[in-house]
Amino acid sequence: MAPSPNTQAIEKNRPIVISGPSGAGKSTILKKLFTEFPDKFGFSVSHTTRSPRPGELDGREYHFTSPETFLQMVSDDAFIEHAQFGGNRYGTSIAAVESIASTGRICILDIELEGVKQVASHKTFPRPFFLFLAPPSLDVLEERLRARATDNEDAIQKRLAQAKVEMDFAERGEIHDQVVVNEDLEKAYNEVRRFVEERVGV
Ligand code: ADP
Repeated sequence: MAPSPNTQAIEKNRPIVISGPSGAGKSTILKKLFTEFPDKFGFSVSHTTRSPRPGELDGREYHFTSPETFLQMVSDDAFIEHAQFGGNRYGTSIAAVESIASTGRICILDIELEGVKQVASHKTFPRPFFLFLAPPSLDVLEERLRARATDNEDAIQKRLAQAKVEMDFAERGEIHDQVVVNEDLEKAYNEVRRFVEERVGV
């Protein structure tokens, strides 16, 4: 089947999905990548049914969407992945990825495990590259989450339990093309950089 017109740019500039437990270092490593290659990558703008916060602009932080429109988009298969958190829906649309790819940039998608499974099984979305960033161990992850100081004890325990599920899944290699262990930051960054370089060039 010929690709539908709105996925042609995505076929050409295939996105990179980075996933891994909260605290594994995804933001830290992506920040380094965006700093080293400022014109090469982009983040897609997600849709959400939550209300904008002061200072947030429609189309910049999120595409703010009514629940009715969101559900319509779900049934139209417009999202590559979507989920519900705290009573609101969030999703990444094909169109949002397309708008990055059509500028010649590589779209980077930072997605949790359930979303990764949805992306990998989407009917029309071209298969992206899947990278998993893992902490050296759950103990180290716990230390980093505590040092980051953004979560309370309950949230830390939930994140650790979820991390184990994600790491076991990634190890099985059902979806992920590569697992990078973030022990030494520079070394992990170089491995991520190489993964990206080999697949999309930099
Ligand atoms: P994520 O985006 O995956 O949730 P972060 O990038 O926020 O993770 O990293 C979690 C914490 O761990 C941050 O405080 C970060 O500075 C720290 N960190 C990241 N990589 C390393 C590393 N290799 N060694 C030590 N600390 C790290």
